[in-house]
Amino acid sequence: MKKKLTPEIISTYYETKFPIDKFMSFIGLSNFKNREFGFVVGKNRFVRNISFKNTEKLLEFMVKNSVKDAYVGAVFDTPPSKEHPIQKLKWNYREFIYDIDIDEYDLVRTCGCQGAQYCKECWSLIQDAAVFIDQTMREDFGFNDIIWIFSGRRGVHGWVRDPIIQKFDKNERVAILDYLTFIHDEKRSQSIDEIPNEAKPLRNRIYALTAKSYLEKVTSKKLHEFGISVNKAKDIIKQVQNSDDFDHTKYNILIPNDSAVRKKLSSEIVLRRYPRIDRKVTMDTNRVSRMPYSVHGKTGQIAIVIKDIKNFYPDSAPTVWEALM
Ligand SMILES: [Zn+2]
Repeated sequence: MKKKLTPEIISTYYETKFPIDKFMSFIGLSNFKNREFGFVVGKNRFVRNISFKNTEKLLEFMVKNSVKDAYVGAVFDTPPSKEHPIQKLKWNYREFIYDIDIDEYDLVRTCGCQGAQYCKECWSLIQDAAVFIDQTMREDFGFNDIIWIFSGRRGVHGWVRDPIIQKFDKNERVAILDYLTFIHDEKRSQSIDEIPNEAKPLRNRIYALTAKSYLEKVTSKKLHEFGISVNKAKDIIKQVQNSDDFDHTKYNILIPNDSAVRKKLSSEIVLRRYPRIDRKVTMDTNRVSRMPYSVHGKTGQIAIVIKDIKNFYPDSAPTVWEALM
């Protein structure tokens, strides 16, 4: 039976268990009073443009209002308030946040899950996307302070917190996203081979991570549809499954040297498994994101920091009831 998330339980969590120090180390103390917060309160009313003088006041608000969902936004030049809404303020800085939700994959999920549903099979799309973005940020851009947070329900958020990125304006954020989404035409029909040379590290990563993941899960029957013989298909799948250091060189050796086959296959790989990023969330510095360690109002799960994204499954995130035991 599904437990009911009561205002009392929420307040008790924020009063006794919410790790405010950990949360603060997450967003940093400097300019705290100019940071925007947003909450779902009462009967699902969303309020934002709220700021607090200090962390005690923040906690007090969350306990008193039994906030169903809690969000953190950017830092502004003046403390945001009803009288000074963020639209009228000058934006100062914001972490660079990736939002990956399982429902973004609805069109390509083959397991039967839809919307907020997920299973081990389709959740691997989220794990793959996070690993891919994490590596791209570190290796191609040189960022190294990247933390993944469970959204509390159906996805994960990647926070890139390196000081330099906090000041990046919209154009600079778009430039990073454009690099990551070279393959993001509407139909996602672009094949990997068409990615320009400037993005060679990205292209090679698609072979090493995305193609590997696709090929170790695909059936020989499916590969046969692209014009590969069933026996060859079986061999490809076996070799990929047994390879610890699969990369673009191995891909090139393994896949038959037929340009029509290659084009179809690599388009399919991108379509099925390339990270689906919500560009708006990452670009828009006015957005609020779920507060790390807060309670998700629908599931009662806690938005924990994920230690190992490759092996993280939502079931392993604690619920507010478990936290209070
Ligand atoms: Zn599924």
